[in-house]
Amino acid sequence: MYDFIIVGGGIGGSCSALALSNQYKTLLLEKEPLLGGCSGVFHRGKYTYNIGATTFAMYQEGQLMKKFFDEHNLKFDFDKLEIPLCTYINEKKIYRYTQKEKFIHHINQVFPHHAHQKFWTDVLELSNQFYAHYDIYYNKSNLQDLLKTLLSFGKQFLNFSTPILQNAKKQLEKYYGKDIDPDFVEFIDNQLLIVAQTHLEKTNFLTLALALSYPFYDNFYIKGGMGKLFEIIEKKAGEIHKNEEFITALKVGDIYKVYTTKNIYETKQIVFNSTYQNDIKEKNNLTQSAFVVYLALKTQKEFLHHYQLIKDKHFEDAISKSIFVSFSDKNDTMMAPDGEYSVTISIHTDLRFWDRLSKEAYEEKKKRVQKEIVDYFCKELHIEQNEIIKQFSATPNTFGRYIKRRILGGMPLEFTNYFLKFGSPKVGDFFYCGDNIFPAQGWAGVVAGVVNMKKVIDASLKN
Ligand SMILES: Cc1cc2nc3c(=O)[nH]c(=O)nc-3n(C[C@H](O)[C@H](O)[C@H](O)COP(=O)(O)OP(=O)(O)OC[C@H]3O[C@@H](n4cnc5c(N)ncnc54)[C@H](O)[C@@H]3O)c2cc1C
Repeated sequence: MYDFIIVGGGIGGSCSALALSNQYKTLLLEKEPLLGGCSGVFHRGKYTYNIGATTFAMYQEGQLMKKFFDEHNLKFDFDKLEIPLCTYINEKKIYRYTQKEKFIHHINQVFPHHAHQKFWTDVLELSNQFYAHYDIYYNKSNLQDLLKTLLSFGKQFLNFSTPILQNAKKQLEKYYGKDIDPDFVEFIDNQLLIVAQTHLEKTNFLTLALALSYPFYDNFYIKGGMGKLFEIIEKKAGEIHKNEEFITALKVGDIYKVYTTKNIYETKQIVFNSTYQNDIKEKNNLTQSAFVVYLALKTQKEFLHHYQLIKDKHFEDAISKSIFVSFSDKNDTMMAPDGEYSVTISIHTDLRFWDRLSKEAYEEKKKRVQKEIVDYFCKELHIEQNEIIKQFSATPNTFGRYIKRRILGGMPLEFTNYFLKFGSPKVGDFFYCGDNIFPAQGWAGVVAGVVNMKKVIDASLKN
């Protein structure tokens, strides 16, 4: 008999297993051969590819994720990045140096404007203040917890009421005036999109500040790919069954019988990392997803790890003008043989673009979207097509097949979503984690959600 069965080994499920297995008898079930979900890796031939997530940020002293990793004594091999991101737009290159003054000097050369000093200083200060005050309790499953949640959000609201109520676009115009360089606005808006899944006019200034600030904090390259983090987590996360899919659970008295593709187990509680989040998104008519291209590249050229390449119009069958490109390190032979790179390129798409297509139409569309992305990537980064040794791609349907999830990326961080649309870490008898349960996403957001869920579990088991 287990105390907890955890269904799904994405960041949420794996970190939940890590947090709970110290105290309880747990079993983590993952349907795939490797843990990680959207943030994992897969291996093909001589190459390892990051499935989706490639950026590892917000891991530094004083930040919640660092505390969580330290608490569980997780040590991994990484390189700190001096330039976490480089954005290309209209023949301009914007290097996001971690050092604020260096970045301000640089952006003043690309988009000369007297407002940069104040804007970027305010953005970083706001972000620093937010993380310094960060202590959120989030659970809407009963009146007592709802009040506790309101109190916790109320405290944040009092601290940050001005930037929460300010529209991000209007605020940007206050700093830079209305005749602001359209390329600068695109640069800002596209960075907001990859972090918060939304656009300037739809969100508030606090969200914008947090989204723009991540390259000012320490960002790391994980040697061997994101999967290395899960290999380390796996060693400390209690009992884990991979290649085993949860089918259903039946309540019998006070316990659950959990049916999987391989066995039947008994447990007192269940934590879900996946299933429920798709229900939430569908209820909210969310259809945002991702199209991802994977490349193996053989070239002498050298690259940074992360680029955002912004086009002057939307890519076909996508809902964005930009692609996010991540290169493995040229010395990282765990990812690709010497002198070669493993590359992951992603773009936002809408899963409805991939629905109800015949097999031929689907394959044709997939090939067309992949070609447009690869051509643009080659043109902007001066890569010859013959330097690409392998290329293939994943649509929302591919993600649906592998990780049982077609809606990708977290919930857009728009003000009304924060409170009204996100789920709850406890609904009925079950606990939930993952990037649509807690109002944040990616490594830092999902770990924050797990820390919150653990507080909710501890409180509920005390009662
Ligand atoms: C293209 C892309 C790029 C991204 N880039 C970044 C980035 O650079 N940095 C960053 O921090 N974040 C990034 N993100 C966001 C980040 O990847 C996600 O927020 C995070 O991985 C979501 O974790 P999760 O816990 O919600 O689980 P998921 O990743 O959704 O994992 C759920 C797990 O449950 C398993 N599962 C599902 N059903 C069952 C079942 N019935 N039985 C057993 N197991 C099951 C799945 O196989 C999967 O492993 C990106 C996301 C995408 C899509």
